[in-house]
Amino acid sequence: MEITKKDIRALSKEELREFFSINDKAFRGNQVYEWLWSKGAHSFEDMTNLSKATRAMLEENFVINHIKVDQMQRSSDGTVKNAVRLHDGLVVESVLIPTNTRTTACVSSQVGCSLDCNFCATAQLKRMRNLNPDEIYDQVIAIDKESRLYHNRPLSNIVFMGMGEPLMNYNNVLKAIDMITSTEGLSMSPKRITVSTSGLPKMIKKLADDEVKFQLAVSLHSAIDSIRASIMPFSKNFPLVDLKESLQYWYAKTKSKVTYEYVVWKNINDNKESVDALVKFCKYVPCKVNLIEYNPIETEGEFQQASDEAIDAYISALAENGIVAKVRRSRGKDIDAACGQLANKS
Ligand code: SAH
Repeated sequence: MEITKKDIRALSKEELREFFSINDKAFRGNQVYEWLWSKGAHSFEDMTNLSKATRAMLEENFVINHIKVDQMQRSSDGTVKNAVRLHDGLVVESVLIPTNTRTTACVSSQVGCSLDCNFCATAQLKRMRNLNPDEIYDQVIAIDKESRLYHNRPLSNIVFMGMGEPLMNYNNVLKAIDMITSTEGLSMSPKRITVSTSGLPKMIKKLADDEVKFQLAVSLHSAIDSIRASIMPFSKNFPLVDLKESLQYWYAKTKSKVTYEYVVWKNINDNKESVDALVKFCKYVPCKVNLIEYNPIETEGEFQQASDEAIDAYISALAENGIVAKVRRSRGKDIDAACGQLANKS
């Protein structure tokens, strides 16, 4: 019977050292770790400072999984979307978003999504599985390479706003961020990384307890329970009082501002009551608001971008109350690479 070999990149440095302390000498664990991460080795053959016998022993016990960029699409605005094939054939998407001052990678954390936000294309895909830390890390590396190739600069920021709910793949997302920020990885400052959640109070508190150093964004979209539940049905189980309490806990522990993501839709939240509710919600913890442009997906017209006047009403009410709000125009719409459009269409 063939034994399925373990992906060696699922092991931490400590676990590798432990494996080698039994099979050889612990320091070999460091050497292999360096090959896997700093040098990006794709085969055990490449690890030339190990003996033939050690390489053969690794070959017998492990595989080295890597993602493969199956298809790359470039938008007229410079946005790049990768369709990424995983070792088991499943596909996720990641995006490179260049601006004058930044090049941002938008990465996926799950294959599909188990949440049911009615306005999001990814929600129409079933959640297949969580991504492993190396699969998240590899998306970042692929985008970093493209950033250097097409824009002559390394990646400056990462957002976990691709497919999936990062806080439902908590451990792997945190492990991937550890790698990204470590010297063996990209040495990126955690302040340049944003994890976006649909708002799971227990997990937000866990982030605070774990004293993470990255930024937190919450997809709010409405500060009125009944409206939020009608567009994000899962949120029925997570009322706004619990979200508010978890964010107060987050801020008390981390002193890090929260970003609220908010789309204004016609006949859904383009009314004064919604504006007032958001202003009130924003006073609970130091925050800023990103008003995201709606990217149409196939929903039979249920969701339409609100008028400019409706957006202006939000901007002026927030400004009057000293809350920073920015309007975020979409990028990469022509290749279905914008927020909420990732659905493996290609
Ligand atoms: N599950 C996480 C991250 C993925 S979604 C979360 O909910 O935050 C990334 C962002 O895109 C979220 O703010 C989400 O609400 C938003 N989004 C989803 N569909 C969208 C659409 N069609 N147009 C604009 N933004 C959308």
